[in-house]
Amino acid sequence: MLGGGLSGLMAAWQLRRHGYPVRVWEASPAAGGWAQTLPWPGPKGEPGWLERGPQALQIQPGSALERLGQALGLVYLPKAPKGPRWIGKGGQRHPSDLLRFPGLRLGERLRLLGEPFIPAQPPERAGEETLAAFMARRLGRGFAREALPAFVAGVLAAPPERLGLEAMPQLRELESRGGLLWGGLRHPPQRSRHLAGGTGALAQALRMALGAVETGRTARRLEVRPDGGWQVWDGAVTQETPSVVLALPAPRAASLLRDLAPQAACLIAGIPQLDLQVWHSRHPPVPHWTRGFTLLLHPPEGRGLLGVVALAAEDPRSVPGLLQLRTYLGGAYPVASDLEDAPGLWSELRRWLPELQDPLQTRREDSPGAFPLLEPGHAGRVASILEALPPGLHWLGASRFGPGIPNLAEGIERWASVGMAL
Ligand SMILES: Cc1cc2nc3c(=O)[nH]c(=O)nc-3n(C[C@H](O)[C@H](O)[C@H](O)COP(=O)(O)OP(=O)(O)OC[C@H]3O[C@@H](n4cnc5c(N)ncnc54)[C@H](O)[C@@H]3O)c2cc1C
Repeated sequence: MLGGGLSGLMAAWQLRRHGYPVRVWEASPAAGGWAQTLPWPGPKGEPGWLERGPQALQIQPGSALERLGQALGLVYLPKAPKGPRWIGKGGQRHPSDLLRFPGLRLGERLRLLGEPFIPAQPPERAGEETLAAFMARRLGRGFAREALPAFVAGVLAAPPERLGLEAMPQLRELESRGGLLWGGLRHPPQRSRHLAGGTGALAQALRMALGAVETGRTARRLEVRPDGGWQVWDGAVTQETPSVVLALPAPRAASLLRDLAPQAACLIAGIPQLDLQVWHSRHPPVPHWTRGFTLLLHPPEGRGLLGVVALAAEDPRSVPGLLQLRTYLGGAYPVASDLEDAPGLWSELRRWLPELQDPLQTRREDSPGAFPLLEPGHAGRVASILEALPPGLHWLGASRFGPGIPNLAEGIERWASVGMAL
């Protein structure tokens, strides 16, 4: 297994469960990839943490992620209290309540209520539909124009016109169960849950269950042996193995495959990767925000600022008595030059959140290649990549299954049980 991010760890765990011996090579000194909870002490050295990647996980009952969590004996905190959710639009923040959403005309609001009567698209016509077209078909053009861009930018950091439905596979499922409103009411999405120990606890638990994950080992060359097996070289050691799983960021996977499977390498390299800027900050507390909050920006006004999430005061990762924020910029949206440095960013944030006082602590974490952008027709591209891979070589990760950890867990569980032919 090359890559010890969550994809590599989950895939190795599934392979073990099916009885295959597996070794994991991870380039960096720590396993987990983006899923790491890092210490970030408070201004007086108090214990505190930040997440490199996801702050919370959506765990649906009966999902692969729930099964994995149960098998690993993970402990979840009682559901976090839900603070307000706002949309920043027209220079102000508004509750993100659909029926009162700013910018929608009366007819467009009424059109939202007609959603359950829109028939599902036959699967053979679904492959090339963009997320924007899907939402316009189901909830109307007004919703797609006025509301959708902020929701999608806040989650996938890209405009809905550039994304295919593979980026949000749960939508297709809801459509087949009677529509987004009925389907959503009958199977409401679970509120996000926090792992005791942060999201990084999932990677840690997998690592413990697997035993050795070999960190500090960067796969630099991959070669096929005359007997059809493989050898991997890390600059010092060569490992021989009957099969190799690439659970790497797409550009790394493409560069290892360049000479072995040029067509697959070219297709993988063609999956756009989005860079995010993430600012973590701690501020004096603000009354009424003790349950945390979420603010998403309407992208044309955000100028590259996508959203801000505040942890609830009781979240064990935050420092008691301080408000901890995480602010996202970038992705597919160019960041205005005045938002690139701290003073410009805080002055912009205060436009939307005037109650916010100056930060006591800040930390900028750049996340190059944070998310893949899954374009319409992604499933076809994946099928062509899999066909172009030589036998014994496997390719996994966010660029195949989508960036959401629940989607990764689902895809990897399916791959291990039916799709894998080691
Ligand atoms: C800021 C941010 C916020 C996010 N928020 C959410 C969220 O709210 N919900 C959600 O579900 N998902 C979220 N994600 C996405 C999610 O974290 C990722 O999709 C997921 O963690 C990807 O896991 P991975 O193992 O595929 O890739 P990675 O985490 O990138 O792991 C790949 C691993 O391969 C290693 N590697 C690279 N080259 C080599 C080599 N040559 N040899 C050996 N090892 C190598 C790397 O060091 C890395 O550890 C977020 C991501 C970021 C960055």
